Amino acid sequence: MTKAAFICSPDLWQRGHGATHPLKPERLQRTYELLAAYDAFDSRESMLVQSRQAAPEELGLFHTEEYVEVVRSLSQGERRFNPRRYNFGPGDNPVFPEMYETEALKVGATLVAAELVTSDRVDVAFSFSGGLHHAGPAHASGFCVFNDAAVAIHWLLQKGLRVAYVDIDAHHGDGVQNAFYETDRVLTISLHETGLYLFPGTGFVEEMGRGAGRGYAVNLPFAPYTDDEIYLWAFEEIVPPLVRRFQPDVVVSQLGVDTHYQDPLTHLCLTTSGYVAAVTAIKELASRWLALGGGGYDVGVVAQAWTLAYGVMSGQEFPDHLPLTYAEKYGGGSLRNHEEPRISSELREQARRYAEAGVAALKRALEI
Ligand SMILES: [Zn+2]
Repeated sequence: MTKAAFICSPDLWQRGHGATHPLKPERLQRTYELLAAYDAFDSRESMLVQSRQAAPEELGLFHTEEYVEVVRSLSQGERRFNPRRYNFGPGDNPVFPEMYETEALKVGATLVAAELVTSDRVDVAFSFSGGLHHAGPAHASGFCVFNDAAVAIHWLLQKGLRVAYVDIDAHHGDGVQNAFYETDRVLTISLHETGLYLFPGTGFVEEMGRGAGRGYAVNLPFAPYTDDEIYLWAFEEIVPPLVRRFQPDVVVSQLGVDTHYQDPLTHLCLTTSGYVAAVTAIKELASRWLALGGGGYDVGVVAQAWTLAYGVMSGQEFPDHLPLTYAEKYGGGSLRNHEEPRISSELREQARRYAEAGVAALKRALEI
């Protein structure tokens, strides 16, 4: 039986990007509350583990020393640095009180998860507040202040481990791709809505790595209205053969759930069933698995999808009826989707052709 850990502290959702920002801290609170309502941490195979704040030196595994100091300074309301130079400001990346502490706690959670997985205390650890895949070494981007995925992968590399990174968020995992674009020690694979229509506007098939890293950055973009069937077909064609060939010591996955058909920011059309199938496929590829959260902007969907994902990780099948304590607070219903999004046959055909072209181009270029 798989042994799983869920990394969580209430401090993760005390502060956030602001009332009108899509990255609501309630996403984390509701996910934890739903799992707790299902008694998900009560078995011997499932541990609830506290997060800790990452130290500046740990953040420095990926970020510049100056940027770490900038985030700390801005967070305290000092005016020593111009926030715009580091891509902070109203909009996607506002400065907020205790930003440093909150965001360093998310990186710490991911490092706790990495420590648990590499010490073989668990088979999988879920740092659900992490997966902040857009941040760069010296700038914030796309709601992400510190890039916990890039920090943790550097930490794993220092231990001499080979890492495969699989990113199923609806947005391209550009920050992680760029961090390891020139090395063959990290395989990055990102599946996402095409950059033609969605932030950050990158992640095309042609982006394949540089120098020694050529062939070790892989992008599988999808057209709007891609549904479970098309997505899972393309996933199976590309991800398992590449990860198996690479033979990683650890699989790091970013499990953003903004691919869901009810997500307000994107245009992909997955259901919880497609999402769970993708998470299950990742589990089958990983003997040691560091799982991260990511995007997802319908708060109810996020809580339900990550609860299902943790069920896959820890081998628990939760009843479909939402537990009473949770339903009384947030409304009832079912854990899983029982209807499919309605997509016109013409749009669906376009999505299928786009996926088929991407898969064919990758198979040719990477000799899969
Ligand atoms: Zn996203």
